[in-house]
Amino acid sequence: MNIEEFKSEVGRLGIAVTDREIDLLERYYELLIEYNEKINLTAITDKQEVFLKHFYDSLTLVRVIDFNEIESMCDIGTGAGFPGIVIKIFYPNVKLTLVDALNKRINFLNVVSESLGLEGITLVHARAEEYAKDNREKFDLVTARAVAKTSTLLEYSMPIVKKNKYFVAMKGHDDTEVSPNCLNVLSSKVLKVDSFELPKGAGFRNLVLVQRIGDISLKYPRRYADMKKKPL
Ligand code: SAM
Repeated sequence: MNIEEFKSEVGRLGIAVTDREIDLLERYYELLIEYNEKINLTAITDKQEVFLKHFYDSLTLVRVIDFNEIESMCDIGTGAGFPGIVIKIFYPNVKLTLVDALNKRINFLNVVSESLGLEGITLVHARAEEYAKDNREKFDLVTARAVAKTSTLLEYSMPIVKKNKYFVAMKGHDDTEVSPNCLNVLSSKVLKVDSFELPKGAGFRNLVLVQRIGDISLKYPRRYADMKKKPL
């Protein structure tokens, strides 16, 4: 997807792309390629593919989330910053927390934030399940793209979502179903599974939108498999 195609497709998502945003994405792309030679960040390196499969794909979140209503967002397993950094470029007012278990990726994100002059980003080197222990009910939105099974992601993420707010799992074509028991334990409900094709036949996507509706009695996140063994 070239820049004109990117602008046009993002426009169809309801976002008018500015020159500032294109400049920041170009710089982000350059850093991604430069650091990808030293640390493993992405298998996708062709510029047009990065604009489609990383940048455009990250922005598809607007299909299910109105970012004008989001003050705080946490991107779990953000890797090289997807979708978190792309959302920050387009919605600079969102206070963003990026969590990843690999410190070299967190270091890269520090370089990106500084180089792009992005403010209001907190970088956390931690496993999501550890981070969730001390950060309950903190965010309006938690996201995870290509990180783990949906039920596992829910278990790590729902405790850090504020009541009545949202989690979105960005998935390929499967793993969109969550058992009623898992949702019940996590006081959550699936509002929508938004299914669509990326432009240019680049793949099928599902956005699983989950709302936290009540209190969660878990003291700390545990694997859902363990919950089943020992009911709360
Ligand atoms: N979200 C990014 C994307 O879509 O390009 C990265 C996806 S990459 C396949 C998965 C990332 O999740 C890796 O950076 C990995 O270090 C991180 N990760 C996996 N399990 C995690 C956990 N339990 N807590 C925090 N990060 C985790």
